[in-house]
Amino acid sequence: MSHPKYKNKGKALGKFIEECGECLAAAGKTIRFGWQSFNPEDFSTRERNEAWLRREIADLEEAIARLKKVRKWKEEEEP
Ligand SMILES: [Mg+2]
Repeated sequence: MSHPKYKNKGKALGKFIEECGECLAAAGKTIRFGWQSFNPEDFSTRERNEAWLRREIADLEEAIARLKKVRKWKEEEEP
């Protein structure tokens, strides 16, 4: 989850791009090292790649919702 203090900081499009990148990083590490692997250089969390990816997807979903709200996009609206 994004830190609540910074969740809505900056442009919605910028946050969307940032979260896309974080999803790609988590998905890439998962493909390379496996779902149950974790970053061996960070012993503070030992968060598994699957949990990391799920967390980043949740962040991305929030960023998408914010972007849609800011841009006033309606679900039934054609692009
Ligand atoms: Mg994130």
